[in-house]
Amino acid sequence: MTTVLALIDTAPDGTVRPTAGGVLAAAATLGDAVAVVAVPPGAGSAAAQSLGALGATAVRVTETPDAATLLGTPLVDAAAVAAAELTPAAIVVSHTVDGRDAAGRLAARLAAPLAVDAVAVRSDAGRVDVEHSVFGGAYTVLSSVEPGGDPLVITLRTGAVDAALPPATPEVTSVPASAASPAATVDATHDAAGGGDRPELAGAAVVVSGGRGLGSQQNFALVERLADALGAAVGASRAAVDAGFVPQSYQVGQTGVTVSPKLYIALGISGAIQHRAGMQTSGRIVAINTDESAPIFDIADFGIVGDVFTVVPALVEALEARRS
Ligand code: FAD
Repeated sequence: MTTVLALIDTAPDGTVRPTAGGVLAAAATLGDAVAVVAVPPGAGSAAAQSLGALGATAVRVTETPDAATLLGTPLVDAAAVAAAELTPAAIVVSHTVDGRDAAGRLAARLAAPLAVDAVAVRSDAGRVDVEHSVFGGAYTVLSSVEPGGDPLVITLRTGAVDAALPPATPEVTSVPASAASPAATVDATHDAAGGGDRPELAGAAVVVSGGRGLGSQQNFALVERLADALGAAVGASRAAVDAGFVPQSYQVGQTGVTVSPKLYIALGISGAIQHRAGMQTSGRIVAINTDESAPIFDIADFGIVGDVFTVVPALVEALEARRS
């Protein structure tokens, strides 16, 4: 069977990000998945353990102080070494900001083809097929590479593949860091999401997003109440961001975060194509909007024509009553 590398996103302290499960599952669909991770010294064994819990059977760990201080390149360096040794058929990484950065650098370095924002991957007689959802989800496009060529570098839309591998005890290989490539230096990091205990927007199983229909920053608390009742991440439309209801890191869409949760709830969002581009591949879409002709209803599985200020409090109350 062919080898496929799974590049793992980590926080600056080396903690494995939630996107790893989907990346591992996608890589395992294509061949023997080998996880590649670059973390600060001392963080390797915890990272390998987390990856085992997500189903990794083989993990290459590079511990280097550069993982916390250089932007992106330690993972790319580790992946390039793994690619030279293992000649993988494909290299899968998450379609997050960090993942896209790593994928672009790696494809350039290996002179390899790059398939971005995959929503599904499969292998057929050694050929690697990748599906993309384009033009706001209006078309599905297939890109393929035949066996025996350069590895296909794939960025995987977060949430597009369920993290469904059974837990494993991985074979862990410690790989020394190669000479660091030039990169921007990180002076300080902070969690931009600011969502407390809420899940990260990228990779969350449930997302509740609010739009201009919420009317104000104070009213946006309603979106957060529903999100907390469901254990969901909070997202927003660009109009809500531009109006100052929430920071830009909450924005879902073409120029924000792309999400593909099991459940996406849109509150007071019209469903402009730029918003849909970032959420259209969600498993189930629920929309609440006063305007029955809002385009969001064209893609919603369940729609409520109603006022968020009436429907959402009732919904939260019902959810809380069910829990108690
Ligand atoms: P609106 O379109 O104003 O819709 C508000 C909705 O709330 C309406 O449908 C209204 O009926 C409903 N409403 C009002 N009051 C209530 C109520 N009390 N209860 C229930 N419903 C109510 N947008 C993004 O979201 N993400 C992007 O990444 C993005 N990128 C863009 C990139 C470019 C280059 C451009 C040009 C635009 C981009 N946009 C993006 C903006 C996009 O075109 C829309 O303007 C934006 O998505 C609209 O946000 P909205 O749905 O919150 O606001």
